[in-house]
Amino acid sequence: MDGLLGIGDFSARCGLSAKMLRSYAAAGLLVPAAVDRASGYRYYSTGQLHQAGVIALLRQAGIAVKDIAEFYDNPDPVRLDRWDREVTRDSTTRRQALVQARAALALGHVPPQIPAESSRIGSEMAPDFLAGVATHTGGRDTNQDATIVAHRLFGVADGLGQRGEIASRLALDTLEAAFAADRSISGLLIAGQQANQAVWQQAGTAGEDAQMGTTLTAIAITSDVGLVVLHIGDSRLYRWRRGRADQLTSDHSVVGDLLRSGELSEDDFRTHPHRQILTRALGVGPAADIDYAGVSCEPGDRLMLCTDGLFQAIAADDLKAILAAENAPQQSADQLVTTALERGAEDNITAMILDA
Ligand code: MG
Repeated sequence: MDGLLGIGDFSARCGLSAKMLRSYAAAGLLVPAAVDRASGYRYYSTGQLHQAGVIALLRQAGIAVKDIAEFYDNPDPVRLDRWDREVTRDSTTRRQALVQARAALALGHVPPQIPAESSRIGSEMAPDFLAGVATHTGGRDTNQDATIVAHRLFGVADGLGQRGEIASRLALDTLEAAFAADRSISGLLIAGQQANQAVWQQAGTAGEDAQMGTTLTAIAITSDVGLVVLHIGDSRLYRWRRGRADQLTSDHSVVGDLLRSGELSEDDFRTHPHRQILTRALGVGPAADIDYAGVSCEPGDRLMLCTDGLFQAIAADDLKAILAAENAPQQSADQLVTTALERGAEDNITAMILDA
């Protein structure tokens, strides 16, 4: 029979097993084109090889045989778009679960999920920020603070160790590149771990005398859950809303722990001899315990990211007064850094203002 293939030959040509072909035919899919009246043998046409190839690919994408059969009854390309969305959603959920499993193994406990309410607010808002950034060496020889203002990503990093300026820059650049490849929440969490890996590996190649690490506090506008803060170390995120400044991050530092347990007052905090000691940082181990949370942001809100050089030099009242003055973000950021310098800042100072 010209142009017709027995099930064995057809199977060999299309790569689908004879068993699969029989089960597809039973579901009404890829039904043999001809049957031998005498022997009852089924034959496929060579023209069916194309359909078999498409079916094999759709099966590889995880599409059910029943759904593929329906698609061939009514081949509408819109259905492919729907499958695409389903596969993306499914893989995002699975990747997020994997990221959380990895974090849970590193932490010894399961990290909290992003609260649904803040996620909802965040994705509805997805604000376009007006940004202003100022940084200064302060009382040090070099500035190890780094900043990034990129597409849907804003961050500050405060480098630690002798080569801290390499660590802070590398962390932010790695975060930006990785987040650009996947702007979902799971992409952001993976980007945070990649930033950690980059600094950890750099520290490994730089030798014993070049130990380095960095803090990281970043705001990202994710594609699926809106505004998310990524945070490790003692840089901070504040939200200014209707006359109130709320610190949205917890300092991962010895004095931060003492402050939270009530063993240290706000006044003593800024002069404590151990104020430089961090309990968590990026690049000091193969995996990092990075906090993340949804951030609610309304029109008129102002976010501030800063390094410890700023809040150790400026009292809370000064900070509020500057945030409250309705100046442009750049002017406010400049004013914060100038004030910190006037107060005799010992450390590098960085302030980033984001107006929603
Ligand atoms: Mg610092």
